[in-house]
Amino acid sequence: MALDLHDYIASYEDFPEPGVLFRDISPLMEDGQAYHQATDEIVKYAKEKKVDLIVGPEARGFIVGCPVAYDLGIGFVPARKKGKLPGKTVSASYGLEYGKSSLYLHSDAVKPGQRVLITDDLLATGGTIEATIKLVEQLGGIVVGAAFIVEIEALKGREKIKDYDILSLLKY
Ligand code: AMP
Repeated sequence: MALDLHDYIASYEDFPEPGVLFRDISPLMEDGQAYHQATDEIVKYAKEKKVDLIVGPEARGFIVGCPVAYDLGIGFVPARKKGKLPGKTVSASYGLEYGKSSLYLHSDAVKPGQRVLITDDLLATGGTIEATIKLVEQLGGIVVGAAFIVEIEALKGREKIKDYDILSLLKY
């Protein structure tokens, strides 16, 4: 029987700073059946979208995207933070609550015309996903969707990437 995945998200008030309600996917990852069920839902979506490649931002985008890539027998590309990738890279900046951050991809990681699904644990303001989309598109990839376990609707991330198809398994 299908699990209610809401039961596998932990909520922490005022983390990592006052005023933030942190939605933690750790309990979901720790439970084999819940992790499998969440992965299967994203695999189904990826099949519908005829995805060639998965790209996920550091670090929880790896946790969500890698099992999907493994199941489909396709590649996974990590979008990494500054100073982590040894080869030639492309970069994109995005706003955080305080200041800015950047994400990087190896310049040859996405081939022109590849159909890419982006994965992350959570959609909040959409800054992270927007930067990841820019990276994929700089390399000629076609972003056919973005998949998240959790979406925080009040933060309106969906509006920032309204031209893209989004799957979120749980909405808060
Ligand atoms: P954003 O760029 O604002 O959409 O933020 C998304 C990224 O920040 C994701 O990679 C999340 O891991 C993390 N994040 C932002 N807000 C939260 C939150 N309330 N709970 C858990 N993770 C969050």
